[in-house]
Amino acid sequence: MSVSIEFETKKGLREDLEAFERILNALEKYETIPIVKFGLYSLVFQLAMNVFLDVSSYCERCGGKCCDYGFGIPVYEFDYKEIVNKLGGAKGISDKRDSVNFRILERPCPYKRGWACGIHSFKPYACLSFPFSTEDEQKEVMDTYNGEGIPEFKLPEYCIAGKKVREIVKKIIDDLTKRLGRQPSPRELYEELKSRFSYKLIT
Ligand code: SF4
Ligand code: SF4
Repeated sequence: MSVSIEFETKKGLREDLEAFERILNALEKYETIPIVKFGLYSLVFQLAMNVFLDVSSYCERCGGKCCDYGFGIPVYEFDYKEIVNKLGGAKGISDKRDSVNFRILERPCPYKRGWACGIHSFKPYACLSFPFSTEDEQKEVMDTYNGEGIPEFKLPEYCIAGKKVREIVKKIIDDLTKRLGRQPSPRELYEELKSRFSYKLIT
């Protein structure tokens, strides 16, 4: 995905559904390409996690493991600039970009406060997209996806919030599949989520 798509998607994951729909409109023309279709389903699951469902009680129970363990977190320039603008600096983030143009946020993350994120309203895109992101957790699934049906997203065992989102969205997919006689497209799934959930359903 290009940086501009990531930037627009980040806006979408922060509840700007018009930005999200711009991405959907731009990408669904290429939906016959498996990697694009995978990316669109991934984005709809990311949106469910960030906008339509409130899974914070699960994250509280988990204790914020995704902020503690694993490789460094990729930080786009737009993420970095936003953090610097808000905080006047960016502790824990590399000064230089790596070979694929990312800065890296170390884990354990210095912005973690208890189980929660101390920079929640301007956290990096990668934090918003976890655990349904296309770049990391789902790489193996993405590489074998042939464009048939809805990808079986793999989640870390400890991510109880992601599992809850997957469970709820799967039920909706099952309902839609019965109604349509086939599995829903990314847009159909998105529209169904939007129509069912007013903002932040408490799970
Ligand atoms: S997103 Fe998953 S791993 Fe991260 S705090 Fe929530 S439940 Fe834990
Ligand atoms: S920026 Fe926030 S969500 Fe991302 S790793 Fe740090 S504490 Fe966790």
